[in-house]
Amino acid sequence: MSAAIALAAAGASDGLATRAARVAAIAGKHADAVDAEGRFPREAVEAMRAERLLSIQIPVELGGEAASITQIAELCSILGQACAASAMVFAMHQIKLSSLVEHGAGSDWHRDFMRRIAREQLLLASATTEGGIGGNLRNSICAITVEGDTCFLEKDATVISYGAHADAILITSRSHADAASSDQVLTVFLKDQYRLERTVEWNTLGMRGTCSDGFLFKGEAPAAQILPKPFAEIAAQSMLASSHLLWSGVWYGIAADAVARAQAFVRAAARKSPGTPPPGALRLAEVSSLLQMVKSNVVAGLKAYEEAKADADRLSSMAFAVAMNNVKIASSEMILPIINHAMLICGIMGYKNGTPYSLGRHLRDAHSAQLMISNDRILGNTSTMLLVHKQDTSLLG
Ligand SMILES: Cc1cc2nc3c(=O)[nH]c(=O)nc-3n(C[C@H](O)[C@H](O)[C@H](O)COP(=O)(O)OP(=O)(O)OC[C@H]3O[C@@H](n4cnc5c(N)ncnc54)[C@H](O)[C@@H]3O)c2cc1C
Repeated sequence: MSAAIALAAAGASDGLATRAARVAAIAGKHADAVDAEGRFPREAVEAMRAERLLSIQIPVELGGEAASITQIAELCSILGQACAASAMVFAMHQIKLSSLVEHGAGSDWHRDFMRRIAREQLLLASATTEGGIGGNLRNSICAITVEGDTCFLEKDATVISYGAHADAILITSRSHADAASSDQVLTVFLKDQYRLERTVEWNTLGMRGTCSDGFLFKGEAPAAQILPKPFAEIAAQSMLASSHLLWSGVWYGIAADAVARAQAFVRAAARKSPGTPPPGALRLAEVSSLLQMVKSNVVAGLKAYEEAKADADRLSSMAFAVAMNNVKIASSEMILPIINHAMLICGIMGYKNGTPYSLGRHLRDAHSAQLMISNDRILGNTSTMLLVHKQDTSLLG
């Protein structure tokens, strides 16, 4: 039996959090090297495969475990506390999987593909961002062409996280050559059905291990691999919510680990001089309250999505879209002051690399949150809705 299969067999009866904790231990061990070298977190992703975490969202009858968005967000946070890049790879894979689970169940090809993902623990990547369009994911320039049973697509995909390491890419395009820019489809292309020519190198401040290079994508595949629903529906009913919630899970994890390091620093100081409160103690109490606000925000968003999933009208409502946008804005903005606060507590030991209290990687990774679909773009979208949508003032959820 291979080590990976033995690990999976041993862990099969364990809960998701236990399995994720084992992956996190491996991810954490390599996090600094992944960051410094800007390399793919291969050890962590192999561990996700060994623990069969890549298929947890898939329905049981297709070989998965039917994990809920709340359970998956918790795993994003567990992984985010160890290595933000590994956690983001996991989150992005699960976001792509949500499109298949929520919108592919009626298609034979996509059901078979889910079975294959579960069997082979395939890793899915996403290509929505496009040269000339940027992060405006509800518009495309490129168009898919269908000839007979085959579809063809060429896209200037300026950011595809772990594009070179994925087993399949889910990619947006206009639905045909004459379609409006917002008339889009989402298509699955398997690794042997596309070529990637690297056009942009991912040499960034943070999230370096996501290896989000830009590529010229050229694909050819059976047309049955185009998801049967318009991308507009996929985005509104599952992708935007799952993106904002699972990204927020990762970001919460980064901030939670920063606060844990600050707490360890204060405790160590308290042990050194018993009876004298350490200087960072009050700041620690303050930052703990900020972290709780982020947690409450994410938890409320998860609850709103779980409830809305059973109600198509609610899922398509402005109230729901505003709420999900607000989760993203708040969590992406609040983690920065939290990590900064933790840095003030740890002082030079937080600023330095290679100490148990180092926070440089956390701070750099956290800066990606506001850009990952620009907050300005999201605020612009919310502000348009607020012109007509009545603000929610209830505490009842
Ligand atoms: C770690 C990471 C991983 C990523 N992985 C992927 C991936 O796997 N696949 C993928 O497709 N993409 C990915 N992206 C891309 C990401 O989701 C965004 O699409 C991209 O970062 C947006 O780039 P941009 O800021 O240049 O573009 P834009 O969104 O075009 O924004 C440019 C600037 O213009 C301003 N702006 C633009 N539109 C508006 C507006 N309507 N209102 C107000 N201001 C506006 C904003 O201030 C913004 O800073 C990733 C990004 C990050 C950070």
